[in-house]
This record gives sequence, C-alpha cells and structure tokens, in this order.
Amino acid sequence: MSVLIKNATLLSGKKADILLQEGKISKIRPSVSASAEERIDASGLLALPGFVNTHTHCAMAILRGLAEDLRMEDWLSAVRKKEKNLSFAQVRAGALLACVEMLKSGITCFSDMYFHMDAVASAVQQTGIRAVLGYGMVDLGEPGLRKKELAETKRFVKKWHQKAEGRISCAVAPHSVYLCSAELLKQSFHLSKEFGLRLHIHLSETRKEVFDCLKMTGKRPAFYLESLGFLGPSMVAAHCGWLSKEEVRVLARHGVSASLCPVSNMKLATGATAPLPEMQEFGMNVSLGTDGAASNNSLSMFDTMKLLGLAQKNSRWDASIAPAHYILSAATEGGANALGIKSGRLQEGLLADLILIDMRAPNLLPWHNFQSNIIYCAHPGNVRHVFVDGKHLVQDGRLAFIDEEKIKDEFISQASSLQG
Ligand SMILES: [Zn+2]
Repeated sequence: MSVLIKNATLLSGKKADILLQEGKISKIRPSVSASAEERIDASGLLALPGFVNTHTHCAMAILRGLAEDLRMEDWLSAVRKKEKNLSFAQVRAGALLACVEMLKSGITCFSDMYFHMDAVASAVQQTGIRAVLGYGMVDLGEPGLRKKELAETKRFVKKWHQKAEGRISCAVAPHSVYLCSAELLKQSFHLSKEFGLRLHIHLSETRKEVFDCLKMTGKRPAFYLESLGFLGPSMVAAHCGWLSKEEVRVLARHGVSASLCPVSNMKLATGATAPLPEMQEFGMNVSLGTDGAASNNSLSMFDTMKLLGLAQKNSRWDASIAPAHYILSAATEGGANALGIKSGRLQEGLLADLILIDMRAPNLLPWHNFQSNIIYCAHPGNVRHVFVDGKHLVQDGRLAFIDEEKIKDEFISQASSLQG
C-alpha cells in the first residue's frame, strides 16, 4: 500500500509532499514524484503527526454520563457498581465506539488499561487504530487474587502482543499503589522487564492516595515505588497531579514518563495541577491522556491540550508557562516516546501515523501561529484525514473501512441496559 500526499502544509508553514509506503513515511520533501496506489491533493490541509493518547479506559465510553456531578468517592462507587456487571459485549461496544471517536478526532494511538481486554484488542484490530493494551490488575493484598491477575496478564500478552499487523503492543498494568500490594507491584515490574513491555500505572491522582500511602508505607507514592525497584524508562505514570518536586526529580532520573490528564482531574475535582514546570526543569518526558469517558467526558486530545495549557497558566499565575509548541509535542512526540513507538513526528523512516487538518475552517483562520491554533482553536471536526500504519482510515471526515452506523447501533443497544 502506498499513498502520495501532495502539497500539504507543515507546521513550519512550508509545503511538502509526503510519500507513505509499507506503513512508514518513506519521503517528505518539497516535491516527490513517485507512483503510488493513492494520490491525495492536500492543498489547504495541515499535516501533523497523529495524537497519542497515553492514558484511557476506552470501553468506559459506554458509561459516559452515568456518574455526573458527584464527589470523587461517590463517582467511584457509582462507576464500580456499573462495572461489576459490564459484559464482554458491552466492553466491546464501548471500545469500538471509542476507537471511532478517537480516530475521527486525530488520535492514531492510545494506551488503555481495563478488563475484558480481549474485547478492546479486537476493537483495535477491527478499526485499524494503534494501541498499547494492558489488563488492569488489582489484588487488594490477596495472594490468590494476585496469582489470578498475573496469570490473566500473561495470557493476554501471549495472545495479543505484536498482533493486528503489529499495531497492538501489550503492557503490564497494575492499577495503582492503593489497589495493588507491594508484591504485585514488584512482580509487575519483573514481568515488564522479562517481556520488554511498557508498565502502565495510575500515580498520585488524588491527595487521599498520597496521604494513605504515607500512612501505610511512610513514603510518598513515587518514593514508595522507587523503594520497590519499580521505576524505569518503560513506566508510564498516569495523572501525576499530587507529585512533590522531589518525586518529579526521582521519576525523571529513572526515565519515567508522565501521562497528564487535566480534563479528568478537573472534572473529578482532584484539586491538583500536575507540576509541569518542574517536569520540564528535570527533563521528564511528558505525554497527555484523556482518561476514560466516564470522567472526561470526551476522548478529544484537543480539549486535553487546551485545558492543560489553561490549567497550568492559571495555577501558576504565569501565562508564559506551557507554551503551545511544548503542549503539541507532548501530545505527539511525548506520547510516542512514553509508549516506545516510532511515531510522533513527521520524519522519513517513522511510522505513517499522521493526520490532515482543514486549514480553511473558520475557527482556525488566520494562521499567525500554527501551534496555538491547534491547541486553542481546533476541534475534532477539523480533522479531515487520518492515516495509521500508512492506511487511509479517515477520508474527508468519514471512516473508509468500517461501518460506523453499525457500530453506533450496537453501542446504543448495549448502552441502553445500563440506565437506572
Ligand atoms: Zn485512569
């Protein structure tokens, strides 16, 4: 499969032709003349690397709107009550709809942690998106449960790692320091090392988590994980809202990546704005996540980027914090680095995961500042074309290879039984 994109505009403002071959960006130059199976006139379209959503629970799309305006503890118990009875078919319907929503809004890769992960993997396989998938492990300190959770992770990894033409990578995903024992965390780290997998965990989302951890272990969460030997460059820490400066220093030293989820944090009123300036100071890799649609409630990286910028500037009383070019690179290159995926930039040799944005949309004119237009003005409806692995999945705003209406009908029917 080869695609030649002619006359696209780059972030620099310059025009380029982009040749996609065998899943990679094979040429990106002012002018490329090559024969290709598909040719696209990208005049008036801005080419960007696809967005990488490094923390979500995509199947939670089916719970969207079911736990609104609740305090965090009430939100959690409402969500858990629904999750207890979620069927495989409901998780599959939720994951499929979420993949549709993400693709159409320019997300080419996401990292997920949930249960019934076979359903999520099959949604990834069917829709053509790229993903890093981990079964969310919780042992609550029970050895029997721990054994079962680790066995499920191993089974899932064996079945899905590097599957779907290599678009699925598996991760080891212990939920958090408060739902996982020290033993489970240690074994998770060893498993990720043994199989060369990403390690995905929630970290310092709430103040309660920090103080419970202090009470239980005498250490703040990042120091506790360090004492277990858990920290390393394969780790992606979701939220990171309540980290202290010293914790950021330690995480950065170990090469840990952060996945910041500002929309979810503000909606659940966790009260923290992640210490982004300190992360930059210590050179920590920063990426962005939407979190699940039960706490966001969209899966839009445009919202995530904008609210990250606003929250950071507002919380430090300093509008020079979190400049647009930095936020855009966190949403693309930072995400690819966090997940160990060779994408996130428009560069020859990297994966052909990219998007084309309508430069003539009224909300985007004029183009005085490309980066801030994307962060503060753009919305998912501005995404016209999406390529993953060199395949032209979204064509002029429509999914080319899957029946979106069928996915929505099935989703609506599966969601209807969750009300009440
Ligand atoms: Zn989460």
